Amino acid sequence: MYDLIIIGAGPAGLSAAIYASRARLNAIVIEQNYVNGGQIIDTYEIDNYPGLPGLSGMDLAMKMAEHAEKLGVETVNGFVQSLDLTGPVKKVITDEDTYEAKAVIIASGATHSKLGAEGENQYGGMGVSYCATCDGAFYRGKDVLVVGGGDVAVEDAIFLARGCNKVYVCHRRDELRAAKILQENLLSLPNVEMVWNSNLKSITGGMKVEKATVVNKFDKSERTIPVSGVFIAVGITPRSEFARNHVAMDEKGYIIADETGATNVPGVFAAGDVRTKQLRQVVTAVADGANAVTSAEKYLLTFSILRAFQLLSALNPSRICMPAEQPMRDAPASIMALQVFQSRMPPAALTSTSSPTTCFMRATSSTVAPPVPKPVDVLMKSGFARSDILARCSISDFSR
Ligand SMILES: Cc1cc2nc3c(=O)[nH]c(=O)nc-3n(C[C@H](O)[C@H](O)[C@H](O)COP(=O)(O)OP(=O)(O)OC[C@H]3O[C@@H](n4cnc5c(N)ncnc54)[C@H](O)[C@@H]3O)c2cc1C
Repeated sequence: MYDLIIIGAGPAGLSAAIYASRARLNAIVIEQNYVNGGQIIDTYEIDNYPGLPGLSGMDLAMKMAEHAEKLGVETVNGFVQSLDLTGPVKKVITDEDTYEAKAVIIASGATHSKLGAEGENQYGGMGVSYCATCDGAFYRGKDVLVVGGGDVAVEDAIFLARGCNKVYVCHRRDELRAAKILQENLLSLPNVEMVWNSNLKSITGGMKVEKATVVNKFDKSERTIPVSGVFIAVGITPRSEFARNHVAMDEKGYIIADETGATNVPGVFAAGDVRTKQLRQVVTAVADGANAVTSAEKYLLTFSILRAFQLLSALNPSRICMPAEQPMRDAPASIMALQVFQSRMPPAALTSTSSPTTCFMRATSSTVAPPVPKPVDVLMKSGFARSDILARCSISDFSR
């Protein structure tokens, strides 16, 4: 069994792998592609990753993958099909194997929806983009076309209008779907022209994009617009299908998790484009990977405590104190409960469904939450090997 399984070897997964290796966790990365790096593999140029301007996406991906490899991170090829997260041991089921771990980081990313227009694939990275934040700067002073009518398309168009000479927005309906405030902002811009009720038919040019042809869906008339760039913003789909019904997601399928990466399932974390967040970029994905490992480390500390609970309960069933639910944020409470359990807990005060905090409060007949001790001090008395404890503790465990 592994300490940690990381699903996906994009920027978030590779960053998690690097941090996990440096934390001396026994981790494995599962990636469906034969080449690691995720979406950036197909990115012509990444110009906004601090310290590495103008690097091709493939070069950045290779640097990240080499870094992880150098640290000895184990990677296997496999397509994750399903999860079993019901017990403390998490199972990740791929098309070939089942892997087990104490904690899981889901870093399976997202895909930008394509339109299927003629020339779309041919000019990918040569004028066709799915990310205005990423590529907008390359079109300063030029004319571009944005396709889409939702929040992302309108935000992209507003962003592009700041630097581009002219922004055409092609939408298949006669009104936008985006939030009203965004619509108002967009429509007030002097260098934006709406192309209503139209679909993008084709993208043409030489080495790079030169023109986009749109078709009016009512009278089928065609209009060819000279542009240097076409930004397609018709949706992003999170790659979370295998986790559906296992972790909480929003209506679009993004896994609900904040900066810590913690999901609604203890021991399961989400990092990168697949989680709910404001900005989906390489820089935020790698930050997520690092944060998720830090959270996983804290959870693993709790996992050890839970294991101690199990062992102690088995040894002395009259004093059963098995926390039913154990979010990792409750780690200090678990430690306290363990301490109480080991020392002076009256058996009648404990129930099989109590949380550690409840156990503690019952045991001390107190309704006030107890003071939080230094986790490391409590652990030192718990019988774990000193080296194991120090290897697991993070800096915050040395303070109250
Ligand atoms: C064309 C394009 C240009 C971009 N340009 C920039 C840019 O200039 N700057 C910038 O900062 N960002 C850019 N981005 C965005 C950036 O690439 C993403 O934000 C970033 O890659 C997200 O990293 P991630 O690790 O979360 O996900 P991903 O990069 O999507 O990686 C996820 C990985 O998980 C794997 N995976 C998915 N499902 C499974 C499964 N079931 N089993 C096993 N493996 C699975 C995938 O194969 C993939 O390797 C661009 C994106 C695109 C599409």
